[in-house]
Amino acid sequence: MQIADSTVVTIDYTIMHAEDGEELDTSRGGEPLSYLHGAGNIIRGLERALAGRSAGEDVTVTIPPEDGYGLRDEDLVQALPRRNFPAGDIEVGSMFRAEGPDGSQIVTVVALDADSVTIDANHPLAGFTLNVRVSIRDVRAATDEECRHGHPHGSGGAHD
Ligand code: ZN
Repeated sequence: MQIADSTVVTIDYTIMHAEDGEELDTSRGGEPLSYLHGAGNIIRGLERALAGRSAGEDVTVTIPPEDGYGLRDEDLVQALPRRNFPAGDIEVGSMFRAEGPDGSQIVTVVALDADSVTIDANHPLAGFTLNVRVSIRDVRAATDEECRHGHPHGSGGAHD
């Protein structure tokens, strides 16, 4: 079966910075990723590269930021009062989840002094061109319920 809208695809993936090959994330050694094709579950550039492929194929694709995690928006870098943060344990490079207007997002601490904490709410991979290596393990038709929900369900049909 070929990958198309309304198929559930299971992949192993490795994401690297295109510039220096640094490995950023991989499913190898852990659980493969299943997603519903055509539902925006994964970045656009990867979804596009996988369309029409089949189980058993290996795909390597270079994805510019516009088709990946987006361009950086410097307006998302903000200094906030230190008192808004819990005492201790904050350092440059710390990441945590914050509730924003678009739901929960990951923010990174980029600067710090006694009075303020500067956070960057851009996705950590925004602005980067990525190389993604994928091995397609399985392709199957999505169920009606999965299509309605916009995501795949596990083998028992249940939600996580
Ligand atoms: Zn569901």
